[in-house]
Amino acid sequence: MTAISNKVINRLTLYHCLLKYTCKGNSFIASSKIADLLDLDDSLVRKDIALCGVLGHKKQGYVVAELKKSIEQKLGFSDRKEVFIIGAGRLGTALIHYADFKDYGIDILALFDNNPNKIGKEEGGKRIISLEKLPNLISRINIKNIILTVPPYAAQEVTDYAVKYGVRFIWNFTPTVLKVPKSVTVYNENVISSFMQMQNSKNK
Ligand code: NAD
Repeated sequence: MTAISNKVINRLTLYHCLLKYTCKGNSFIASSKIADLLDLDDSLVRKDIALCGVLGHKKQGYVVAELKKSIEQKLGFSDRKEVFIIGAGRLGTALIHYADFKDYGIDILALFDNNPNKIGKEEGGKRIISLEKLPNLISRINIKNIILTVPPYAAQEVTDYAVKYGVRFIWNFTPTVLKVPKSVTVYNENVISSFMQMQNSKNK
């Protein structure tokens, strides 16, 4: 994927959801319709779509299937991204049950935990593995991505351990602000921040 800003990624992902669900069954869609539904500027939508290299048809707009496919290609949805989840609790197990991840190339291979009562059990068709086995599996399968869903107090220690053995991308669901080397990318996911943004947009 060529470098595009996170804001563009966010909007293209929303257009994709719109085409996949809301406009499923439509043959064509105009940029103005997308702009309307998402409360955006038509010119911004057209600019984003131009980045995907797809051309609209006069009066009818874009072919839905073509636009959807071109967004998938631009965002690399079909590139396989293998991931481990660390922390097989309420959130970790909820994520493993999210079937749509595979539509975006996100392939969760296993869950790790340190609770002996959980190790060996299955969740969402994946085995819960002892965290002690992480180094061996990382080196065997060359995994670079983890989803972190351990309690806040364990987050830094688990991060240091995973980074030591080769993890380079951490989708951090914990509220802990992680310290990592420059070679490691952390993306902090936070539903509270989304809620606050929603409240804030009502005040505009
Ligand atoms: P949970 O207690 O249900 O699950 C945590 C799991 O981590 C447990 O299975 C536990 O055994 C395991 N664990 C603990 N220490 C470990 C270690 N050192 N190594 C490996 N596994 C370990 O918690 P939860 O409700 O699933 O929440 C998980 C995390 O997600 C918490 O940090 C919580 O604050 C956070 N959270 C974030 C959001 C968000 O918006 N990003 C939303 C909800 C929860």
